[in-house]
Amino acid sequence: MTTKAQSYLTHFRNIGIAAHIDAGKTTTTERILFFTGRNRNIGEVHDGAATMDWMEQERERGITITAAATTAKWTRSGTDEEYVVNIIDTPGHVDFTIEVERSMRVLDGAVAVFDSSQGVEPQSETVWRQADRYGVPRIAFSNKMDKTGASFELVVNDIRERLGAIPAPVQYPMGQESDFKGIIDIIRMQSHTFTNDLGTEITVGDVPEQYMDKVREMRQQLIEAAAEVDEELMMMYLEGEEPSVEQLVAAIRKGTIEKRIFPVLCGSALKNKGVQLLLDAVIDYLPSPLDVPAIRGTTEDGNTVDYPADPEGKLAALAFKIMADPYVGRLTFVRIYSGTLQSGSYVYNASKEKRERVGRLLKMHANSREEVTELKAGELGAVIGLKDAGTGNTLIGDGDERVLLESIDVPEPVIKLAIEPKTKADQEKMGIGLQKLAEEDPTFKVESDQESGQTTIAGMGELHLEILVDRLKREYKVEANVGAPQVAYRETITKQVEVDSKFARQSGGRGQYGHVKLRVEPLEPGAGFVFENAVVGGTVPKEYIGPAQ
Ligand code: GDP
Repeated sequence: MTTKAQSYLTHFRNIGIAAHIDAGKTTTTERILFFTGRNRNIGEVHDGAATMDWMEQERERGITITAAATTAKWTRSGTDEEYVVNIIDTPGHVDFTIEVERSMRVLDGAVAVFDSSQGVEPQSETVWRQADRYGVPRIAFSNKMDKTGASFELVVNDIRERLGAIPAPVQYPMGQESDFKGIIDIIRMQSHTFTNDLGTEITVGDVPEQYMDKVREMRQQLIEAAAEVDEELMMMYLEGEEPSVEQLVAAIRKGTIEKRIFPVLCGSALKNKGVQLLLDAVIDYLPSPLDVPAIRGTTEDGNTVDYPADPEGKLAALAFKIMADPYVGRLTFVRIYSGTLQSGSYVYNASKEKRERVGRLLKMHANSREEVTELKAGELGAVIGLKDAGTGNTLIGDGDERVLLESIDVPEPVIKLAIEPKTKADQEKMGIGLQKLAEEDPTFKVESDQESGQTTIAGMGELHLEILVDRLKREYKVEANVGAPQVAYRETITKQVEVDSKFARQSGGRGQYGHVKLRVEPLEPGAGFVFENAVVGGTVPKEYIGPAQ
């Protein structure tokens, strides 16, 4: 039962946009922000105008590292229902797996973006598996339909074959590659033709005759897939009754939230085609905070407590990202699961066992920040003033029973290197800077040897450490020299195993890691691993593990 106090939550969607690097996640996010009206200028990605990429180095490197949460609003087409869409940025680079994990933890649903000329790529698979682990319902966006080699069928088939998931195409492209003109809505049997470059003029019409047979067949398959997940629809199907649009949408929504089917859409983010329909699908198929299981906490006695999304319940929030902000200092991004967080109040950080004062609260929009006095259950925002909260920390009401929320898995670092300041006098400043960076990022470790005075830093890959050394220079004004990267072996190593060469290739991202040897340690699937002489870390899925040597 939804109470009156909870009713706003039906109009909330907390989503992530997950993809292999280069699939078009940034472009899609940017277009979403444009069409939701917050982002007035469409800038080319990575030219300095991209709005989700906050830090300078991200723009320079053309990758998105941070997991900032941006709040947008969308009115479902054909209705006057306004929805709040919080977009949690999920990075696509393999080194930032922890960033993906922490964003997966706080989102309720995701849009998986695929490059339709490439199909399901290695990292799309990694991200998909992470989403599976966190039980995140997804819709798939077959992007770049305008590109040479684009094929909607390729994406649909790859979802079935490579990801082992049941795709439910709810659209069909009119033309592909340079001939991509529009999108057919299979559910409503309508065509959407784009008539201007900005994608703001759309002609809605009937399905052109040439697509009729194909689309009818697909609609029948869609009804069958939806009937498999919805009893009522199954009864209708068996009796030869045609479901209404509403019934079909409701059944697909149910199947999506239960993660039994995955709606597939198509478009071209770059050419502004299909983004509004994608937003409508986010509203139609992805869960609200009320549709997902309540977050669970554990008390000191080992009892479990569930926190349903309710602004009137006890406060339960998770800090999922710490950022150094040039204007206001330390920003702690939080997701409120239950209760209401007030500015100026005290909270209890159950992970650090510390009482902390909440200063100001911000909601981040694409191009602006909004100061608010409270953040309610289901909302995400940034807190100014928390001194101790780190990624994955639980915040509860001051004086409430101590409870720890399910948090984020933090993998062990896989690579380490020695670091020293270029100027000896900077030694102390470097120590402080590294310490602060480590507080932000739980996969980044700093160690110093008292006797030799040598400092080593450890992280998830070479690029990960390179970026941190870069931040040390930019944010803490310390230039440092680093030694050669070494693999950070763990003491628990017991056996060596072969992994499938396909997995090694995949883990290497786009060939950056070239010639990794196929040796991983330790054995257990799901455990952390390192490749000999290489810089790749992650989780070995069972199917890739071969016999022990
Ligand atoms: P990300 O790494 O996933 O964030 O990908 P980006 O959004 O940065 O896109 C990678 C490249 O693909 C950029 O050069 C984009 O301009 C391009 N791109 C993104 N979307 C599309 C699209 O719909 N069609 C085409 N042809 N290119 C696209």
